[in-house]
Amino acid sequence: MDLLKKKIQTEGKVLSDTVLKVDAFLNHQIDPVLMQEIGKEFANRFREKGITKVLTLESSGIAPATMTGLELGIPVIFARKRQSLTLTDHLYTAEVYSFTKQVTSKVSVSQDFIKQGDNLLIIDDFLANGQAAFGLIDIAEQAGADVAGIGIVIEKGFQKGGQALRDKGICVESLAIIDSLADHQVTFKEEDHN
Ligand code: 5GP
Repeated sequence: MDLLKKKIQTEGKVLSDTVLKVDAFLNHQIDPVLMQEIGKEFANRFREKGITKVLTLESSGIAPATMTGLELGIPVIFARKRQSLTLTDHLYTAEVYSFTKQVTSKVSVSQDFIKQGDNLLIIDDFLANGQAAFGLIDIAEQAGADVAGIGIVIEKGFQKGGQALRDKGICVESLAIIDSLADHQVTFKEEDHN
């Protein structure tokens, strides 16, 4: 997706060989026009799959997931990372190790919102080692729901998550796949969709 790649090149900051900061348009300040285009792109890629709900993880997955849900005309659920006073029981819960924060946390979704027979599209901002995606798949399995696919805004192709998910036969669609962050340069993989 050219618009996204341009944005990464102009406004992304390479913090190290493994971490890209995109606070200017995705992780802190949000570019709504870009998010709308991202939503359209995910909707186009998954429209024929009979998705019933979009599932993401707070907080950075919410913007792209919401725009996708808007395009597909279906609800969006975000797994919560923090304990909430109003979200106390009837929960599906999974453990997720955060690549950026380097801590394991519990993520939860109310059993009210995912049911057996749901066909979920999982959306997230980044794919690194796949921990967040596998946690959300775990929650879908607990609910007896299917996962039709995973939509990722930025996949770091040099980390193992994408391969691990595809090896399990899961359809992963990434809008930008980064090959390398070496020398403070973002290099994209050639094969990804434009
Ligand atoms: P994974 O669970 O696939 O190992 O990592 C994905 C999660 O970690 C995403 O939800 C995202 O929040 C965070 N993450 C992983 N790598 C990066 C990165 O390079 N930059 C930013 N901003 N977040 C990342």
